[in-house]
Amino acid sequence: MNIYLDYAATSPVSTEALESAWPWLSGDFGNPSSQNELGFRAHSALENSRQAVAAFLGCRANEITFTSGGTEADNLGIIGLALANKRGKHIISAKSEHEAVLASIDYLVRLHDFEVTWLSLDSTGMIDLSELAAALRDDTTLVSLMLANNEIGSVHPIFEVSKLAHERGALVHCDAVQAVGWLDISIPALGVDALSLSGHKFGAPKGVGALYSRGRFAIEPLIHGGGQEFGRRSGTENVAFAVAFATALEALHQPGSLLQRQHTREVSSMRDGFVFAVLETVPSSTFTGHRAQRLPNIASFTFANFSGEAMLLELEKQGVICSSGSACAAGNDAPSHVLMAIGVKAEVAQTAVRFSFGHQTNPDELNLVIRALGTAVRALSK
Ligand code: PLP
Repeated sequence: MNIYLDYAATSPVSTEALESAWPWLSGDFGNPSSQNELGFRAHSALENSRQAVAAFLGCRANEITFTSGGTEADNLGIIGLALANKRGKHIISAKSEHEAVLASIDYLVRLHDFEVTWLSLDSTGMIDLSELAAALRDDTTLVSLMLANNEIGSVHPIFEVSKLAHERGALVHCDAVQAVGWLDISIPALGVDALSLSGHKFGAPKGVGALYSRGRFAIEPLIHGGGQEFGRRSGTENVAFAVAFATALEALHQPGSLLQRQHTREVSSMRDGFVFAVLETVPSSTFTGHRAQRLPNIASFTFANFSGEAMLLELEKQGVICSSGSACAAGNDAPSHVLMAIGVKAEVAQTAVRFSFGHQTNPDELNLVIRALGTAVRALSK
């Protein structure tokens, strides 16, 4: 029996999402731009999905752009906003961001002469707001900081970030890919000007995402063509996946709702018990990330005496599926850039293992994982 604890890498497509997509891949296959009955039906399915995403986020429907995923949403949010709203060529971010953010910023630096200030991070992955306040300049166009880190789960104080940035006239982009379903990601709660989401982290298929961008700010498109998605992202829309995206999002508890808060508390306490048990089972292990400001569903460790890859293999032999750092770094010998950014030495960063829970993960499964971990440690210690 497999126990899947790699939800931060990807989640299974939910039955509701799959079923909601199917009609738009089969009988109702119209092009939403076509002026015929099939086209009108596809158009209205797409717009209803956009409306549902907007209702979830507390914004207007025309502020949502469907994309091919989180990576494209990050690229469009950062490059699109920075190029269309130039107050100057200064950007602020942090080295613990996802590669999609780091590479978008790198593109602006290499091809458009932008300058970046990288905020420092403490050993738990947190920024210092006073450092952000001091880094903001009259020519700062954009601050890009993630809500929750995909490797260590630490959560940035995005509302405060938005407040400080706006006081100085800068825009804020936030990668909320990992936070969906766990934290309040509504726009009023975060105050951001752009927000990236990725469907496959919460039960929609891979290959669909969305960018929220505040209506009054222009976005320079990355993909040029027929002007779909309000001119922000050309190309015939993936109606089926947009419908699945909205369905999966709507199946989550509303941000800030009582139900969500209760669920979050339950998963957080399950995670705390799990962290405690891992630290006891593997005496050389260290918990990574912030103790309190963190996602309920991510528990990451470094296992000083064991390589991350060897540990993953041993755990997989026993049916436990997790990952070493992020999915992007897995299978790649380079130590996690996130751990390096928070000051972990390269040889220790290479021992990283991340367990990430889904909404259905239960304590019985976690007990089995702890047992498997004990067996893995014995096998690797031989
Ligand atoms: N941002 C974060 C924080 C992520 O964790 C990921 C995926 O792991 C992405 C962006 C990229 O999303 P996608 O896989 O949809 O391109």
